[in-house]
Amino acid sequence: MNIKDLGGEFGLIENLTQDFSQFDQKIKKGIGDDCAVIDLGERYQLISSDTLVSNDHFNLNWSTPEQVGMKAVEVNVSDIIACGGTPKSILVSLVLTRDLDAEIIQGIYRGIKKKCDKYEIDLIGGDTTHGKELVINVTILGVGAYGNTSLRSDAKVGDLICVTGDLGGSTAGLEYLRKFKDVEKLKVKFPYLYKRHLEPVARRGVLQCVSTAANAMIDVSDGLASEVRHICKESECGAEVDFSKIPLHMETKLCAQKLGQSAEDWALSGGEDFELVFTVSLENYEKFDTGFKEKITVVGKILGGNGGVWLLKNGMREELKGGYDHFS
Ligand code: ADP
Ligand code: MG
Repeated sequence: MNIKDLGGEFGLIENLTQDFSQFDQKIKKGIGDDCAVIDLGERYQLISSDTLVSNDHFNLNWSTPEQVGMKAVEVNVSDIIACGGTPKSILVSLVLTRDLDAEIIQGIYRGIKKKCDKYEIDLIGGDTTHGKELVINVTILGVGAYGNTSLRSDAKVGDLICVTGDLGGSTAGLEYLRKFKDVEKLKVKFPYLYKRHLEPVARRGVLQCVSTAANAMIDVSDGLASEVRHICKESECGAEVDFSKIPLHMETKLCAQKLGQSAEDWALSGGEDFELVFTVSLENYEKFDTGFKEKITVVGKILGGNGGVWLLKNGMREELKGGYDHFS
């Protein structure tokens, strides 16, 4: 049987983990969210792990080693932020090819250090070994204010589904590079997409406004469709996303036109935007100030448990499909 037949990446995780017991009552959330959440009494400990594989998550023809290191930290910080927390420390594990130029890994570590300094994160350990492909795994620890996490399971019927910033830009940059294989050209023609793809940044800035107001929250690593489905699965609810409301940057639209692809599909299925998708009651949404409302977009709403998960497109409802899956 191949992994696809088990339901792809998420079917596989469920299949592998479903028989495990949970022994420690302090584990508020184990598998199934952006972070594991452990109840420490006066605060929550948040833990998450993300891996970058060479030629899959990054390509050294296009990224500098420093950019790879920066991305490795930012994608992990994004998971802590998606749970409403503050990043505190990381462990970095490396699989290095035997012939790897030491300057590459030194460059990657310069990128890691830059982000550790930015977020005041301590590097507290890791592991180093060799293998056939360059792999960087980061495990991150963070803290969350007691009683104030925003888990995927916290959505309420009637909530608005909001997205920060815009979506699809990272995939646009990647598709441009795949087609033209020219990183300098991307930087000149689409500077925003260059940054989105090669130098992603977690959305820490909005946390202050979002964290106490939001119910459920998740970061966009696999595309809007997949993230909304995760919220629905964990919250046992339905949802409707309006295709016409998906926020797109002008460069993303222009790039899609140039490549003959759909910018909305990149937003729904591409991923790696590291924006936040959160659900919020109408009452709390209305309390957001105008400046903040301009930074977010309402893309849909949460429906009841058997309401289905829909994409509203041209006035018709279709199943909300798509999302990046390593094994589909
Ligand atoms: P994210 O996209 O936020 O990094 P994922 O979608 O990768 O999260 O993972 C979903 C959930 O499955 C998380 O709770 C993660 O910790 C868990 N998970 C992923 N892979 C494994 C694994 N091999 N064994 C156990 N849990 C896993
Ligand atoms: Mg995540």
